[in-house]
Amino acid sequence: MGEGRGISVGIRVISLDEVDSTNEYAKKIARKVPEGTVVLAKRQTAGRGRKGRRWESPEGGLWMSVILKPQRVDSRLVFVGALAVVDTLSEFGLSPGIKWPNDVWVAGRKIAGILTEGRAGEYTVLGIGLNVNNPIPPELQGDAVSMLELIGTPLPLDRVLERLLFHLNAWYRVFKERPGLMMAKVRERTFILGRTVKIIQDYNVLIGRAVDVLDDGSLLLDIDGQLRRILYGDVSLRLF
Ligand code: ADP
Repeated sequence: MGEGRGISVGIRVISLDEVDSTNEYAKKIARKVPEGTVVLAKRQTAGRGRKGRRWESPEGGLWMSVILKPQRVDSRLVFVGALAVVDTLSEFGLSPGIKWPNDVWVAGRKIAGILTEGRAGEYTVLGIGLNVNNPIPPELQGDAVSMLELIGTPLPLDRVLERLLFHLNAWYRVFKERPGLMMAKVRERTFILGRTVKIIQDYNVLIGRAVDVLDDGSLLLDIDGQLRRILYGDVSLRLF
């Protein structure tokens, strides 16, 4: 188990040129390395989103996974990643928002995705893919965007990494000490609230107005006047 207060995200960084997926690599070594260890790769050959969906990760982006060893499994760890990305992008002059549950968008397009995986009681791997200077493949243009495209000049990746690690440390600490405070920030940064959304879970589709993000991380949906709690899990959300 982690030391609680003493840990530092990025205490150790394993830098790889190429890997199938930083999350896969991190899961393999998680038990043997200290909490806060980061796996970083220049490119992933089999980067993944949820449910095995492909995550495009050519050179130029920030593809990394953080090994965390929290006391309890908590699906809200995904928000540590989302808020850290949001704060990092804000420092670079962008106006990001969280698309519940696990993406960060800028100007109507996805710039980052977060993927948490783990083993109960042992570790959680917090995977972050952030489009920095990498090209966006043609089939994703219109849906995805990079910092380079928004800012107009390439960014030093090490500088973006340094800011992201700083904010990951800060939010991991808030998560452990004041989770309610973290969720208040999530609510504030979730741009879908008030909008009509479509929730897709396997073959189930729900359409309603996103009303709130609750303290347990779930989304409150208003479906024709009836409130329904959508648990964070393998659900996809589309703007309607
Ligand atoms: P969702 O639940 O929104 O479908 P996931 O979290 O499963 O998304 O992420 C995978 C999806 O993200 C892919 O199906 C693709 O549409 C999109 N995607 C893949 N690579 C990138 C990228 N580098 N930047 C932005 N979006 C991407």
